[in-house]
Amino acid sequence: MKITAIDTIQLDPYPFLILVRVHTDTGLIGVSDTFYTGDAIRGFVHETVASYLLGKDPRTIERHWEALYARTVARWGGVGMELRALSAIDAALWDILGQSLGTPIYQLLGGLARDRIRTYNTCGGPLYGGKGGSRAGEGKGLLEDLWAQINEPEVLAQELLDEGITAMKIWPFDRFALAGDGRSISGADLRQGLEPFRRIREAVGDRMEIMLEGHGYWDITTAKKIARAVEEYRPAWLEDMVLGHDVEQIAELKGATSTPIIASEMLITRYQYRHLLERRAADIVMVDPTWAGGITESRKIVTMAESFGLPVSLHDCTGPFTLLAGVHLALSAPNAIYQEHVRAYVRGWFTDLVVESVQIVDGHILPPTGSGIGTALRPEVLERPDARVQTSRLAD
Ligand SMILES: [Mg+2]
Repeated sequence: MKITAIDTIQLDPYPFLILVRVHTDTGLIGVSDTFYTGDAIRGFVHETVASYLLGKDPRTIERHWEALYARTVARWGGVGMELRALSAIDAALWDILGQSLGTPIYQLLGGLARDRIRTYNTCGGPLYGGKGGSRAGEGKGLLEDLWAQINEPEVLAQELLDEGITAMKIWPFDRFALAGDGRSISGADLRQGLEPFRRIREAVGDRMEIMLEGHGYWDITTAKKIARAVEEYRPAWLEDMVLGHDVEQIAELKGATSTPIIASEMLITRYQYRHLLERRAADIVMVDPTWAGGITESRKIVTMAESFGLPVSLHDCTGPFTLLAGVHLALSAPNAIYQEHVRAYVRGWFTDLVVESVQIVDGHILPPTGSGIGTALRPEVLERPDARVQTSRLAD
């Protein structure tokens, strides 16, 4: 089997998303996606990745990861954008491998470590992360969870519980960081930011786990202040209250609060995670499979975390294939505790792109039943007038 073509696909409503398709001479096509700097990734895939991969056997995935990392990333001091491109390509190769063997990817990762993986709802609305994201959360409406997490948090919590979802992630302090510089927070803003926690606890007690997302907006001093204030509401974890790049600051925050610290989707490759783990700076490890280095690298990171006795949660607030890549990892890893999802995406625009997305029952994601990644791109996506498709082909 050999790789004959690589497509990148970008769609207007999701300017940060880029899909990659890897074609083979057998007719099998592997697909994945990644998020952020789509145009740069398109350029890197066609200029650099394609010239290495075209003509090669897609199934020797480990070999390709090492070669691409050494030749096109590490040697040039590259990290983020290159790793996102490599990640999507890697996940697409796993999709081909699974399809070629007629089996889901989780079987190739050692089989099911559990029958299903618990999930939490990240409370972004349908537009969050897409075009018009700046308008996201402006009004009440169907699955407008970004609006609801601030304005009707207790209604949202009850609605999720009624659906069987027992954990939710919110970011009620972001607006104060974005209005200022993240280097201080007033007493009044602190109180306001705590309101959703108070209202959820008052309405549903401890039946709902609440995760606090910080998006790396705060300095360490203010992060500690928020961390101490929110403790009384028993959050499940604090996520990226400070940027992920300084492990010492994450460790400092961990030392300053009784709430578990999760870190970080902002880290990539096993080399960055190694510092986090050796410093024992986190209580839970977060990995995004199409940012950190694909399924190949994420599996190694998850196993490294396991060796430190740490649970792992898989990230997805980006695309339908990233979500499924995480599901396969989470189902096959003994130390996985959660796979994140955004219900407004899974029930919304994901359905426009893929033939089927994840099945969520009683707050858990079930194993995908199809071979490979477990879904496929809807053929009509390529016919969309807004689809920007670029292809690199193996020369005859
Ligand atoms: Mg996050």
